[in-house]
Amino acid sequence: MIDLDETHDPERRSWVKSANDAATDFPIQNLPLGIFSIQAQQPRLGMAIGDAVFDVTGAGTRGWLTGDAARAAQAGGAAHLNALFALGNGPLRELRRQVSALLDRKQAAREVLDQADKGLLHDRARCSMHLPARIGNYTDFYAGIYHARAAGALLTPENPLPENYKWVPIGYHGRASSVLVSPGSVRRPHGQLPPTASGQSPGFGPSQRLDFELEMGFFVGAGNLVGQPVPIEQAREHIVGYCLLNDWSARDIQRWEMFPLGPFLSKNFGTMISPWVVTADALRPFRVQAMRRDTGDPQPLGYLVDDADQRHGGLDVELSVGLRSQQMRQQGIAEVEILQSNARHLYWTPAQMVAHHTSGGCNMESGDLLGTGTISGPQPDQLSSLLELTFGGTRPVLLPGGEQRAFLEDGDEVVFRGKCRREGFVSIGFGEARGLINA
Ligand code: MN
Repeated sequence: MIDLDETHDPERRSWVKSANDAATDFPIQNLPLGIFSIQAQQPRLGMAIGDAVFDVTGAGTRGWLTGDAARAAQAGGAAHLNALFALGNGPLRELRRQVSALLDRKQAAREVLDQADKGLLHDRARCSMHLPARIGNYTDFYAGIYHARAAGALLTPENPLPENYKWVPIGYHGRASSVLVSPGSVRRPHGQLPPTASGQSPGFGPSQRLDFELEMGFFVGAGNLVGQPVPIEQAREHIVGYCLLNDWSARDIQRWEMFPLGPFLSKNFGTMISPWVVTADALRPFRVQAMRRDTGDPQPLGYLVDDADQRHGGLDVELSVGLRSQQMRQQGIAEVEILQSNARHLYWTPAQMVAHHTSGGCNMESGDLLGTGTISGPQPDQLSSLLELTFGGTRPVLLPGGEQRAFLEDGDEVVFRGKCRREGFVSIGFGEARGLINA
């Protein structure tokens, strides 16, 4: 285990009572970053604590933070976190440490904060969340090997896993402008639909095969200059935090458009992320070794290998997807969990993705977003898109209330969740990425 400090101490409790509830995603050991606003007020930096949001910008302004943490809070007061991310992990770590101390129930600050400065703590349910960063660039990888196999078996059965898969962290440049924050909705895209028979013309209309992809996203902190690759040993230090990411996908549009240059309109109508950025620091206790390669798999090329990354570069995050249709809502039927997976099933680590992305000289900028790719597991109920889960739509999922789902219908609501658990530590979570499909 690497470099833990008092912020990871499982004995630490907060004077914010809801933060000590065993079920909360946001105990004092988490303190994820987000941009929030209340009513018409200016968006600002907050940290989630239990059912509340702690106003970090306000705490900085009122002198509760010092040194690097004050500098970080000031950088985070600009309605997006780019300037804060640009400071890198050091100041961010100091900020999290000082806020943790302020919210610790043993601290004297409690009395003053609780009474004189009540305005710094807000009911989370009353806060509007905004995109955490101005995302200049968004790249989506394909690092879930079970997804690559399952999707490949449907799309190219003769060669399910591309020959390059175990050598190259495959990815494509996505669209940053349509990254949306949860909770929100996406409009069913219209597009070219594949011809029904060879020689026929394609159609144009609403996608009939609308899908989600369960992924994690991560944000770039300090960037690199063009022409100056980030070595694998340093790659992890360029990642400031993680979120949940839903790469909404229109499978029919995708199938027709994607050869030879990859997905385009089938993906660019919307990508949804959870609003809270769980810091790399908070995730330290939940790091695991990189996915073990099968005997016979090639070892990665040298520029992708670092000892520490192999030992601690993976993440143990339990992931799940819930679905609730319009009919279920009307009938008062609760959301149903349709699959579970885990970020352990990534063939490449986030650091390998950063090292590869920059290896040719591409520069990363603070606030850039990278997606891992769909994170399926080896079991049939761990297939993390409907395409895979329903075997290309041929085996629909049964919903309580009698409906079936091969692909998403209008009015469906899809909810991603993520949780880290480890013996001897307090569990932390990611909140939700919640999206509704509109016609
Ligand atoms: Mn994807």
